[in-house]
Amino acid sequence: MKPSTHRPTQAVIDLAAIRANIENFKTYIAKKNGITPEIWAVVKANGYGHGAIRVAQSADDLVSGFCVSNLDEAIELRSHGIVKPILVLSGIVPDDVHIAVNLRVTLTVPSLDWLKMVAALDTLKDLDTSHLKFHIKVDSGMGRIGVTSVDEANDIIALGDKLGMDFDGIFTHFATADEVNTDQFLSQKTMFDELVNGLTRRPRFVHSSNSAAGIWHTETIQDIERLGDALYGLNPSGTALDMTYKITQALTLKSELTHIKIIPEGATVGYGADFVASKDTIVGTVPIGYADGWTRDMTGFYVLVDGQKCQIIGRVSMDQMTIRLPERLPIGTKVTLIGEDGAEKITVNDVAAHRGTINYEVVCLLSDRIKRKYT
Ligand code: PLP
Repeated sequence: MKPSTHRPTQAVIDLAAIRANIENFKTYIAKKNGITPEIWAVVKANGYGHGAIRVAQSADDLVSGFCVSNLDEAIELRSHGIVKPILVLSGIVPDDVHIAVNLRVTLTVPSLDWLKMVAALDTLKDLDTSHLKFHIKVDSGMGRIGVTSVDEANDIIALGDKLGMDFDGIFTHFATADEVNTDQFLSQKTMFDELVNGLTRRPRFVHSSNSAAGIWHTETIQDIERLGDALYGLNPSGTALDMTYKITQALTLKSELTHIKIIPEGATVGYGADFVASKDTIVGTVPIGYADGWTRDMTGFYVLVDGQKCQIIGRVSMDQMTIRLPERLPIGTKVTLIGEDGAEKITVNDVAAHRGTINYEVVCLLSDRIKRKYT
């Protein structure tokens, strides 16, 4: 879907903030651990809604590589001039391995069975498999993909060697690094460390640290820090744990009033006629709706207009929503859905808390229909 450029709704992405977030992380780790790990920027899901290409291009000189979730996201980066290593974090369809090899994209091997399927492919015979770099995924407790025993990992290494592939890395992913309780985290860390110690050989990259581990469990950082949420200036724990260094939220979401009217007591607004005016009410319409990722549960929350909080009233529709205004304001008046206006501020975390979800989901859901502006 093309972004809608002929309406005032837009997400503004502060690329300088993203760069500063990376720099600040590096400074923090250098001071805390005395190390300078490679930073691989996690730009999957369209850079958490911020725009993978622009984020990757802007951060390119500050990072050593990128992580995406699937092959299409890797292809998109390569076709926009990104030449640094790209790791596809999920297992891809074996039939597509030749595409990854041709694009020099690093693959995740999620199991021995997967690699056996790749080994059986006809397409592999025509390929220079020395260009096939792979990282073994270890399931240390997340329970999605990955090997669970050192034997399986060593069998993958042996088969990779036989096929002439490049065993470049091994990694795991923590399920609870952003939580106060560390039991599960510690058990995953122990499992991963023991498995790595039992490998027939150590690859170039051993890595397990996402934003949360990099912030609150710096001892997990080895060769690569996979930096996602914090790169965009978001605290991966929401508000449960305090940040350990300065981050700045990179995304703001803005629109304008497209319609203003006064409705009398008893008049209704929106689908289901849920909102019934208890007195004369000034209602403004804002061109954003659930098709933009501004979900129906935003009713009851607020936006900022003229530095004041204005409640979202009536049901959020597919393309529009309605707010209660303190006074009659002109069409074109700025509306801030995420960001600052005067002394007031709405953060991604505020929206997430209202919805009972995580900041990741709020930004990832912002649909392609919302145009992105970069500053
Ligand atoms: N590594 C893996 C395997 C992931 O799936 C993700 C994100 O889901 C990340 C790293 C980045 O995590 P975060 O955004 O919390 O930094």
